[in-house]
Amino acid sequence: MKIICIGRNYANHAKELGNTIPTEPLFFLKPETAIQPKGHPFFIPDFSNEIHYEVELIIKIDKIGKNIEELFAHKYYSQIGLGIDFTARDIQEECKAKGLPWEKAKGFDGAAQISRSFINKSELDLNDISFLLEKNGEQVQIGNSKDMLFSFDKIISYISKFYTLKIGDLFFTGTPAGVGKVEKGDILKGFIGEKEMFKVVVK
Ligand code: ZN
Repeated sequence: MKIICIGRNYANHAKELGNTIPTEPLFFLKPETAIQPKGHPFFIPDFSNEIHYEVELIIKIDKIGKNIEELFAHKYYSQIGLGIDFTARDIQEECKAKGLPWEKAKGFDGAAQISRSFINKSELDLNDISFLLEKNGEQVQIGNSKDMLFSFDKIISYISKFYTLKIGDLFFTGTPAGVGKVEKGDILKGFIGEKEMFKVVVK
């Protein structure tokens, strides 16, 4: 399986990092080994002094597809989850400055936090999914799928021009404003609506 991440999919987050708003989806990959084992703490890697949380809605692909038309993209996923795209921001800034790819900053072990459970999309209004991240009990990121620059269906259609999608592939669909640094001892909790989707301890 593969993990495909969409960057700058919320205008307010693109702006907070001083980035321009993309005219087509920007994407990068995380390897399967980036997935944080369920229930494990997140260990701050020693190669970075600035690990950021980015809370994101996740879609899980449940049908193989290539060159999927946007109109039919909804047939390729049925479940929505929530996760954190952990990012070594200091390394990412170095990569960006040098025009290098971001995988070093985005694909390390533990960089993909994924909720234990997923919600059937029939239980959600896909154009109005509210989600948030709490750090130590305080809300630090609040998002809603209605603010995505590129919808789930648009993302699937666009990416499937380049990559065959397989069952079990995951999409991280971008983060809203409010990203920030994690410190040892932080407790991060993610919610879709009122439902707690994950809790992770930073060590
Ligand atoms: Zn992200």
